[in-house]
Amino acid sequence: MKEVQVKKIPREKLNFWEETYLLPIFQGMSLTLKHLLKNISNTEQMPVLDYPLEKKTMPPGYRGKHRLTQRDDGTVKCVACMMCATVCPALCIHIEAAEHENPAIEKFPQVFDIDLLRCVYCGYCVEACPCDAIRMDSGVYTIFASKREDFVVHKEQLLNMQAQYPETARPKQGMPPLPNP
Ligand code: SF4
Ligand code: SF4
Repeated sequence: MKEVQVKKIPREKLNFWEETYLLPIFQGMSLTLKHLLKNISNTEQMPVLDYPLEKKTMPPGYRGKHRLTQRDDGTVKCVACMMCATVCPALCIHIEAAEHENPAIEKFPQVFDIDLLRCVYCGYCVEACPCDAIRMDSGVYTIFASKREDFVVHKEQLLNMQAQYPETARPKQGMPPLPNP
């Protein structure tokens, strides 16, 4: 049997004061005390938000709750191609396709559910969508519900979400254009 070679590193010997750890404890406590005094003497400048009354302004492009976009006639843009569900690393998109009455469109999602408890907000679904049908520009960053099943958002809810920014201010999303051959 092969002998395992173990390299022993001698432990550094501490002196009496180092073994008590009094100095680092004192340093830590004095830093805490410094911040405490600074904050209670100037509460206006405290680096905290009075959440949920105050909310942080997120930069444009920060990924929020999903929404489904619509055509000019109000129908869902999604063509149920399943690209988003396929690319989703959390497998949290569930789509059931149905035949569209317009043969040029072919399919639409009869069911489009996203389980927000599983979603990791990676944005791959937005990137993968070939027709800009799903976006994460709603500006809704807080999700809450009292039951697990309420975290599953359905097609109607996704269609009712509004964009946080007007179309012109929306940061570019989606796949970059393919290079010329
Ligand atoms: S953001 Fe990522 S994890 Fe969430 S639904 Fe889209 S692809 Fe899936
Ligand atoms: S949202 Fe986009 S990628 Fe997902 S199924 Fe619809 S068209 Fe395809």
